Amino acid sequence: VKTVPKNNLIYTFSPSNKPAETVQIGERVLLQTEDAFGGQLSSGQRTLESLDWAKVDGATGPIYIQGASPGDTLIAEILDIRTAEEGVIVTVPKQGLLGKRRFKSLSKVVRLKNGIVQFDDEVLIKTNPMIGTIGVAPKSTEIPSSSLGRHGGNLDTKQVTAGSKMYFPVFVEGALFAAGDLHALQADGELCVSSVEVTGEISVKFGLIKNQMPKWPILETEDEYSVLSCGRSLEEACQFAVEASVTALMREHHWSFEQAYMFGSLAVNLRINQVVDPKKGVRAAISKEFISLDSYLD
Ligand code: CA
Repeated sequence: VKTVPKNNLIYTFSPSNKPAETVQIGERVLLQTEDAFGGQLSSGQRTLESLDWAKVDGATGPIYIQGASPGDTLIAEILDIRTAEEGVIVTVPKQGLLGKRRFKSLSKVVRLKNGIVQFDDEVLIKTNPMIGTIGVAPKSTEIPSSSLGRHGGNLDTKQVTAGSKMYFPVFVEGALFAAGDLHALQADGELCVSSVEVTGEISVKFGLIKNQMPKWPILETEDEYSVLSCGRSLEEACQFAVEASVTALMREHHWSFEQAYMFGSLAVNLRINQVVDPKKGVRAAISKEFISLDSYLD
């Protein structure tokens, strides 16, 4: 299996990043990933106050996928996610949804064993390993890996787990895929700005759909498709996700806008990914009973 070690960290999704590895369609690749803090907190190398912010939010890659060209859809099938046995959670003053409150900076290392996060001596909670940052290079600009957009990026979506598939619009030759920022567990919203940040490994396999692309990244889980959008406000993010979902429903069922808009009220579920980054992220989910992937592709 081709392995991309975690010294191949990128801090921007950019068309000018040099590939760390080249793979074929259908080939299994293993990405070794750093945690969101570049390992500085979990190793005790730095405290939150002395954190080197230039080493935060790195993603492993990029990977050049042979045959991927602008206008295609890159399929990233997440086969497996393994995490280290320790993760770190932080509160950072002024950050998160309650950032206007006064509170201290706190960093907490937690044990992860047998699928359990040991939050404290008494409270245990099941892990759900997921990928925080996953995406491809945008067309021309550089986008920090801490941000998100149509190319993916720091999506922080709790359903990006083993067994899920992501569909990304391809903007550059080879797509230049990268991923990292594993979370052993995160709830919808990621409200304090951090989840259980952890190092680990992602096993992934790529596919392609030629000459068609989605407007926003699409997430496929066992029984749903979701549009992953973002905006300067939650409302703007929801509008983008709903626009893409209603358009897909019109295509799927040959409905007028009015019919699809109505049905949207019945079958499109809006969920929050995260509300703590400069751009807010949401997902609009539809049961596979009512939609197929094709309808999301232009
Ligand atoms: Ca993140």
